[in-house]
Amino acid sequence: MESRYNPAAIEEKWQQAWAELGLDQTSTNTDKPKFYALSMFPYPSGSLHMGHVRNYVITDVIARLKRMQGYRVLHPMGWDAFGLPAENAALDRGIPPAKWTYQNIDQMRQQLQRLGLSIDWKREVTTCSPDYYKWTQWIFLQFLKAGLAYQKEAAVNWDPIDQTVLANEQVDNEGRSWRSGAKVERKLLRQWFLKITDYADYAEELLNDLDKLTGWPERVKLMQANWIGKSVGAYLEFPIVGMEEKIGVYTTRPDTVYGVTYIVLAPEHPLTRRLTTPDHQAAVEAFIQEVSSQSELERTAEDKPKRGIPTGGKVVNPFTEEEIPITIADYVLYEYGTGAVMGVPAHDTRDFQFAKAKQLPITVVIVPTDTAVNEAIALKEAYTEPGIVINSGRFNGMVSTDAKEAIIKYAQSQGFGKARVQYRLRDWLISRQRYWGAPIPVIHCPSCGTVPVPEQDLPVRLPDDITFTGRGPSPLAQLDNWVNVPCPTCGTQAKRETDTMDTFIDSSWYFLRYPDANNDQQVFDSAKTNDWMPVDQYVGGIEHAILHLLYSRFFTKVLRDSGLLNFDEPFQRLLTQGMVQGITYKNPVTGKYIPPAQVNPAEQKDPETGEPLQVFYEKMSKSKYNGVEPQEVLGKYGADTARMFILFKAPPEKDLEWEDADVEGQFRFLNRVWRLVAEFSPQPSVVSNQSSAAKEKDLRRAIHTAIKEVTEDLEGEYQFNTAVSELMKLSNALADAKRKDSPVYTEGIKTLILLLAPFAPHVADELWHKIGHTDSVHTQIWPKLDPAALVADEITLVIQIMGKTRGTIQVPAQADKQALEQYARESEVAQRHIDGKEIKKVIVVPGKLVNFVVG
Ligand SMILES: [Zn+2]
Repeated sequence: MESRYNPAAIEEKWQQAWAELGLDQTSTNTDKPKFYALSMFPYPSGSLHMGHVRNYVITDVIARLKRMQGYRVLHPMGWDAFGLPAENAALDRGIPPAKWTYQNIDQMRQQLQRLGLSIDWKREVTTCSPDYYKWTQWIFLQFLKAGLAYQKEAAVNWDPIDQTVLANEQVDNEGRSWRSGAKVERKLLRQWFLKITDYADYAEELLNDLDKLTGWPERVKLMQANWIGKSVGAYLEFPIVGMEEKIGVYTTRPDTVYGVTYIVLAPEHPLTRRLTTPDHQAAVEAFIQEVSSQSELERTAEDKPKRGIPTGGKVVNPFTEEEIPITIADYVLYEYGTGAVMGVPAHDTRDFQFAKAKQLPITVVIVPTDTAVNEAIALKEAYTEPGIVINSGRFNGMVSTDAKEAIIKYAQSQGFGKARVQYRLRDWLISRQRYWGAPIPVIHCPSCGTVPVPEQDLPVRLPDDITFTGRGPSPLAQLDNWVNVPCPTCGTQAKRETDTMDTFIDSSWYFLRYPDANNDQQVFDSAKTNDWMPVDQYVGGIEHAILHLLYSRFFTKVLRDSGLLNFDEPFQRLLTQGMVQGITYKNPVTGKYIPPAQVNPAEQKDPETGEPLQVFYEKMSKSKYNGVEPQEVLGKYGADTARMFILFKAPPEKDLEWEDADVEGQFRFLNRVWRLVAEFSPQPSVVSNQSSAAKEKDLRRAIHTAIKEVTEDLEGEYQFNTAVSELMKLSNALADAKRKDSPVYTEGIKTLILLLAPFAPHVADELWHKIGHTDSVHTQIWPKLDPAALVADEITLVIQIMGKTRGTIQVPAQADKQALEQYARESEVAQRHIDGKEIKKVIVVPGKLVNFVVG
């Protein structure tokens, strides 16, 4: 055996061998339990970064462990390949989006393969490929059929110079277009939505089923619950003075309705202009114009002063029958709720500040206790806690929590209100005025209206002959020969929908396709997908905690309701891995980042100005020069070392600080294991006698402690870092062993290689062969724990056959009668002397002997 560990040579050799053996392909042996291990699929940017490496290595260790534990494992990979960067590349470099994307995919697939990931590449899915987006379009049609897809007007980012719609990513922090620099406007366009909120109570189910997800991090579930944002309250109507219409508001605090001193409308509310009095007309018009160019984020930011103006219009508070003013303000959005809110300055912090600034009246209606009634008048800040109701007519003296219910009942009986549950979650706007996405498969006919593209005509393919200018309407709208088609129903000249779908749609169902990835007849065979789903372990970044996971859960529920799936939740267990951070040098005076290569680590000064630098760890990024290229690390140390380092350095859900010294440390560890095996000569012919077995008790305990700890670390909370420490302990115990020619030592070497296999798959397979095996280590059974080996105190048990002592064995001191008999039966001594004869009786004397009566 070579004395030197040469990762490059063995990694290439084994990757090829595994491919030839078909080791990474999904087993279809349904006698085995299934395990679906899934990484969130990447956007094909063209180069793998360390965050990817960490994500996929974690999933791969789990997949490899489960295979060795006897599961059939599905471990696939694909590409979230639609999206804006491909169009930007087309604009900047003149490369067609498809060409750019597929080049990147080829490059990244090669980089992934170098990591030794046990991925079944026969199931690769690519969302921009027509054989995938055909089914994305098919799913859209199912939503349409079920009444879950609809069109309505919604605001988009509009570049007035280039006359084009911009994606949010194309608008900078100051609200300007990335290309023209123009101040972006909001413009209303007819767009497609999916009803995630109000159809069949999906919002409620998405919220309630979070309780089923016991394998998810609590903080992710909390983020989802907050996003869905369920609240229980009242819908109340305020008649407009001098008009027929009423303004509806939703409130979670009906107990404060007697304290309403004004109503706030969204400036874009359809009633705004009509209820504005002539003397306010000009100011209101100017305000509407001003607000229309602001993004939602700008309008609702917590730290920003609330801006609003009066309209001159009034409503009647139906409870007090008093007239109160109507104002408009930027922080109220028409798209959210009813587009109007009631102003209760005494009991809401935001309203209090707004009323103070605008000199609006403040009426206290809840006080902390009975005795506080008289002090309540001089409020210094809003009182937002529950308390005793005052100034509220028939409800005076009630506890405010009870008053909520009583006031809703009263409003209902009087016909101006009712109880209502509301969600913060809004319907999902899926229209994108872009080229590189799945075309929405509908045709607009002047006589039939919106007509779905017949299923047999799918996919609606993206045309290739397109020129990107970055100006004008969406690129697809410019292609007359693509847009103009006959109506599928009546044959009249009609027009294709030119919007494409949000790429979050592509990723909301890809995990359902892997179990049947090459099906060209159906979206998937339900039997296959139901067999593999739900995903047993999903691994990905926390940045997808809300949208991707919520949309995937929504799609699963809708496809379940259409009869395609038989489960409620797509992801059984979720692991959100932490970031990979690199050492970062920053000049605090200039704000510039300095590449580490230019910094003397002993001094840490700016090479140009000599100013002392800030040194810290931060998420790797090109602009901060703190990234480490996976290719460099693989080239220098090999994939196994990179994998070991990433797993060892931090628990998977925590951030990981990249340290070259620790990478070196893992490389040295693999070298030590290599030398242990190089110096080892298996001698299974040497039979251990009693005294040597006693001496090797400690080594055997070390071996089985490693089996126990590594298995528990990998199965429980995935503490890969402590598992690697256990491997190091075992390797040290083997290095320190006095006898290196005993069966226990052989067991130790064998166990170390088996336990190492999921972590460092290439070197493990090489070493497995070096100790005389001809099959792959990855087809072996995971080492089985012998609990007896863990026990420190043993006794010597005498084995007798027909009353005659034939030998002794070591057994755990606390073994009971049944266990003693078992140890004795399985011992080599007993089996040799019984020699197949029938055992007629077994006499066990605990702590002393076992006697077999045979005949
Ligand atoms: Zn028609």
